[in-house]
Amino acid sequence: MSWRNSSLTDVDHYLYQFRLIIIGESTVGKSCLLRRFTQGRWIEHNDPTVGVDFHTKMVQVDGHNLKLQLWDTAGQERFRAITRSYFRNAVGALLVFDISDQNSFAKVSGWMEDVRQSSKPHEPVFLLVGNKADLDRQRQVLRVDAERLANSFKIDYIETSSRTGQNVEEIFNVLARRIFEAIQDGTV
Ligand code: GDP
Ligand code: MG
Repeated sequence: MSWRNSSLTDVDHYLYQFRLIIIGESTVGKSCLLRRFTQGRWIEHNDPTVGVDFHTKMVQVDGHNLKLQLWDTAGQERFRAITRSYFRNAVGALLVFDISDQNSFAKVSGWMEDVRQSSKPHEPVFLLVGNKADLDRQRQVLRVDAERLANSFKIDYIETSSRTGQNVEEIFNVLARRIFEAIQDGTV
């Protein structure tokens, strides 16, 4: 019967689901990126400690549905209070800094190390994200410097704006693709 192939049924089927985390200094725009991606809109005022800190969304890679479980820190990074359980079982991590804030860039390596230490023996797939690309006139981090850092980690670098929506879908799609490739290569 035709209802069996309804789009609702298709959407409920997925090949893999995996846990992704989003990390970086407070105020770089992590919650806004997640909201932009899952709700498709910009929310001007958003309380970092209130609200849903878990979202799911389906993406497609090579025609396969992949279900992303997206976790937010709910503002705990402000107090360095993120526990190992936040990092545990994360297959992918978006490492976010703010291109208008040099300090947030300087902290990227430390965040990466924290994730690595806490997720041993697994190695999550990382993506470096320079958010607030709309603030180009206040830029403190050169694209070449971010690219150099990403190259040294052998990961991708993408600039986004959760305000304008620039590349927001892109970062989740690219991370999902890298994870899918890593699964096929047997490296995660
Ligand atoms: P988090 O602490 O990393 O979760 O950061 P939030 O998502 O709470 O955002 C912190 C602040 O940065 C808020 O005032 C947001 O409105 C602002 N913000 C987030 N993303 C962008 C962006 O892409 N461009 C600009 N101009 N501001 C942003
Ligand atoms: Mg937040």
